Amino acid sequence: MFRTWRIGRIFGVPTELHWSFLLVPAAIFFYAYHPQTGLRWTQVQWWSGISALLFLFVLIHELGHALTARARGVHAEKIVLFPLGGGALIPEEPARTFDQVLIYAAGPLANILLAVVALPLLLWQPNGAYLLRFYLNPFGNLVVLPSLTEQLLGITLAVNAVLAIGNLLPAYPLDGGRILRAVLRGALGERRATVVTTLLGIVVGGGLIGLSFYLGDPLLGLSALFIVSFSTIELNRGWQRRRLSRSELDDVLRPVGTPRLYAADPVFRARALFSGTDAKVLPVYDNYNQLSGFVEREVLQREAVREHPVSFYYEAEFITGRRDDNLLELTERIVAANVYGAAIYEAGEVVGFVFTEDVIRLLDRSRRRFYKRFKAPASP
Ligand SMILES: [Zn+2]
Repeated sequence: MFRTWRIGRIFGVPTELHWSFLLVPAAIFFYAYHPQTGLRWTQVQWWSGISALLFLFVLIHELGHALTARARGVHAEKIVLFPLGGGALIPEEPARTFDQVLIYAAGPLANILLAVVALPLLLWQPNGAYLLRFYLNPFGNLVVLPSLTEQLLGITLAVNAVLAIGNLLPAYPLDGGRILRAVLRGALGERRATVVTTLLGIVVGGGLIGLSFYLGDPLLGLSALFIVSFSTIELNRGWQRRRLSRSELDDVLRPVGTPRLYAADPVFRARALFSGTDAKVLPVYDNYNQLSGFVEREVLQREAVREHPVSFYYEAEFITGRRDDNLLELTERIVAANVYGAAIYEAGEVVGFVFTEDVIRLLDRSRRRFYKRFKAPASP
């Protein structure tokens, strides 16, 4: 899914190609093939050239973000290019709103610059005005046969205009949505600014899906679908963060169970302990009664040999927390460490465990309550 290839450093920024770029030559050959004449090589050349141009414009857009970030003292980790767009990975936002806006605006500005250069050059050509009118009316017919120069200038103008306007739409996760969020953050705070821009993402993305049907444009539909799903994910993440920051750690704390499971115990004993609980993981102790890791119910059911010791199947990785830790921060640490959960200590003793499965269950429970509140008839 996330497989990429490094193609080099451009102005010092590592640049990678996503695997789905392999679909581009496949699509070109598919469209250039004609049952009667076979593969039409002029078509292959033409579409390869167009793809290379598109790639270049997207790259310039992302370089706009990455180089501006660097100029404002923020680390730009890399650029990843997809067939339909790209992304500049900038892990940390600068502190000042002005710098944030500048970084997000720099991508579309680079495209505007290219379009502004291409426009007079195109109008200067004999058929330039016809071509421009053709681009402005998606249902019109082109009455002239433009030269190669005219076509290239026309494509430069059209593609960069679409990239600039499309990315400036005020909807998360587009540049326009990120600019809006950065500006709103000052007035509304992080949470409300995220809610506003992600809801806009869902509305604008939904509108674009409708437009893609109207124009018969599957690529627009696909991009719009991305906008809707990214916005939904970010909206949901914001809601989860709020829920967790308001929850108590005790809401999900599993007390230390008795009897204890030891690393040297056989698998059948662990299975017996599991059957007495609904937990998906159990803590495993060493001979000194110190916590040494966790074992997963599913692993023991699937592949374990009855007489083997539990130590063959358990994971020694976990993090530790304190009882007065904030649940949101603890969950973020568990996710970042990619472990089952955390052992919670109080006064030097393990008092219980927080497992991701319990945090997810807590979120599911409040989601159901949340929906129920909407579905319930208004009280008189
Ligand atoms: Zn951008």
